[in-house]
Amino acid sequence: MISVEEALDRILAEIQPLNVVQAPLPEVQGLVLAQDIVAQEDIPPFANSAMDGFALQSKDSKPHNGKLPRLRITGSIAAGYVAEHAVEEGTTMRIMTGAPVPPGADSVIQVELTSTESSDSPWVEIQQEVAPGNNIRPAGEDMRRGQKVLTRGQTIGPWEIGILATLGYATVPVVRRPRVAILGTGDEVIDIHEPLQPGKIRNSNSYLLEAAVRAAGAEAHRLGVARDTVESLREKFTEAVQYDLILTSGGVSVGDFDLVKDIMQEQGKMNFWRINMRPGKPVAFGQIKGIPLLGLPGNPVSSAVTFELFGRPVIRKMSGHAQLLKPQIDVTVENGVQEKAMRRHYVRAHVVWHNGHFIARTTGNQGSHIMTSLLNANALVIVPEGGVTIAPGAQAKAMMLDWPEV
Ligand code: AMP
Ligand code: MG
Repeated sequence: MISVEEALDRILAEIQPLNVVQAPLPEVQGLVLAQDIVAQEDIPPFANSAMDGFALQSKDSKPHNGKLPRLRITGSIAAGYVAEHAVEEGTTMRIMTGAPVPPGADSVIQVELTSTESSDSPWVEIQQEVAPGNNIRPAGEDMRRGQKVLTRGQTIGPWEIGILATLGYATVPVVRRPRVAILGTGDEVIDIHEPLQPGKIRNSNSYLLEAAVRAAGAEAHRLGVARDTVESLREKFTEAVQYDLILTSGGVSVGDFDLVKDIMQEQGKMNFWRINMRPGKPVAFGQIKGIPLLGLPGNPVSSAVTFELFGRPVIRKMSGHAQLLKPQIDVTVENGVQEKAMRRHYVRAHVVWHNGHFIARTTGNQGSHIMTSLLNANALVIVPEGGVTIAPGAQAKAMMLDWPEV
């Protein structure tokens, strides 16, 4: 049996980032940018008004002999249009937010600081002196042509998508999103649409894993459930090798019908099949026809926890991320962990920040079939190998599942 660290090292050593593709902008959220993005134009592309108001020559806003200036209105510029003439001394043009500043004008005064006798009056009174540049957003103020705006390797989120749209990237060079095949195994496992029969249970793993794969940023494809026969598994694996990663659940333990390892050996190579941890000792890793296969345990909690520990980092590495692992922090385990486990124990817990400390409270019965132990768990308290217990109020490390990778 190998340690969690060795398992992770051996898995990640076999995984490479996928190829780079040009993907449509609306589909790149969460993906890794594959090239630096350099602005090809100034943004904003032209000097424009920050306010609804009047474009004028700032010197014309100075009171004269104690009287407020009155300027002649020569036109109006809406956003999306360009002035047909210049603003000359003693004149002004109405201007809307986002409209290009007309030639001749060096400032904009907001409409609230002016007064007109009627909406169609050709004259406007300027009630406050304005400085050159007032309410003008210069061209290139946000991004300059030639400026590097985004860096290769960055994760693309909604804000980066906004920047890319601003710069006209209809498609973006990214590391391809991994496509993950999810395969259930077991004669007892039926689909969620079917009524329960004696001896049968519903396929929760495939659905949980589908969601977890998506949350990790990959595409998930459920391929159904293989029967506990070599033929059924072979058939499913024929389909599964068309994906970037194969995740199975069940069938990797030491039972008479645990055939996933056999098929892996028959059609590919097995790297290891047991890890010194709990939940989730039976985790197999290897490849089939060159496609990495992570065989997760059948017990739902084991399958969920081992996906977080091994599956998620695999997907992140394939996706080109540099940060692969969840952060570990020191927590006070309020209720302690009394249960003795010889293997490394990952105890589901809820961690909160309270009075300057991270406090962990474990989520009850930690059996690997107790799915409700996952509810409300945002962390795994890590109990070292060798039958260690944690007294109530003692310190331990916890892996924060709801924090970003570091
Ligand atoms: P196995 O490793 O195949 O012996 O499975 C271990 C346990 O997990 C057994 O109790 C199985 O019934 C259960 N199990 C296996 N696959 C699934 C699944 N897809 N959904 C829920 N439970 C499962
Ligand atoms: Mg089974």
